[in-house]
Amino acid sequence: MAKSDIEPETAEKTAHFGFTTIDRDEKQERVDEVFSRVAKRYDLMNDLMSGGLHRLWKDAVIDWMAPPAKGAFQLLDVAGGTGDIAFRFAARTETSSATATVLDINPGMLAVGEKRAAQKGLEERVSFVDGNAETLPFSDRQFDAYTVAFGIRNVPDIPKALKEAFRVLKPGGRFLCLEFSRVDVPMLDTIYDTYSFRAIPAMGRLVAGDADSYRYLVESIRMFPDQETFKTMIADAGFRRVSYRNLTGGIAAIHSGWRL
Ligand code: SAM
Repeated sequence: MAKSDIEPETAEKTAHFGFTTIDRDEKQERVDEVFSRVAKRYDLMNDLMSGGLHRLWKDAVIDWMAPPAKGAFQLLDVAGGTGDIAFRFAARTETSSATATVLDINPGMLAVGEKRAAQKGLEERVSFVDGNAETLPFSDRQFDAYTVAFGIRNVPDIPKALKEAFRVLKPGGRFLCLEFSRVDVPMLDTIYDTYSFRAIPAMGRLVAGDADSYRYLVESIRMFPDQETFKTMIADAGFRRVSYRNLTGGIAAIHSGWRL
């Protein structure tokens, strides 16, 4: 199916599940099925699919956040899955008053994250909360930074999640989103398309016995707004000084915004 054949999302009712347009109410359930199926192989597949690049991209999020090495700092990592961002944050801050809360809607992903935290001896500094990005179970103005990595495109109502991000950040708090984006380098886009639509589902079938989940991941990347459109959505949620950095020719991008 060509992307131009896909119906646009309407304001209230529909959402994209990969290249399929579905009722917005149905999207979360289908996303949850995908991540329940992939949870145990998620970290391995991330390394295989990205050739380890996702590690550098996640490091780049923490670099840009530049949390203070000492002193209190509260990070909320939404759709944090198996904890990659939180563990990187913990490694960079090394103080018991710098804490990370990983929120995710999928108990299977959180269970893998909790096990990893125990193996790393980080139970005191990294906590895990079952919750929805659209209705965060936190009070207003609680966190110094909010991160979301490869998560927001899975959320049915992205503007609602962005408003929630704004609500839970302290004034002066920082929003950082790492997400797949639009490639801006000639030739790389063609190579990347072939790799995405052929190699990734095949790898999913071989390694995780599941091509469909990985086809959804690739299609959902294509349906996510481009850098400039997403920048506008972040500003519409109330953030200021919104900017972005492309990573690896725009395969991924980090967007940043401030609650001022
Ligand atoms: N942030 C992690 C990383 O970068 O490795 C995990 C990213 S994984 C591709 C996407 C995650 O988004 C999954 O763990 C999924 O359960 C979570 N997710 C999907 N919809 C969500 C929602 N509405 N609220 C919170 N988490 C959600």
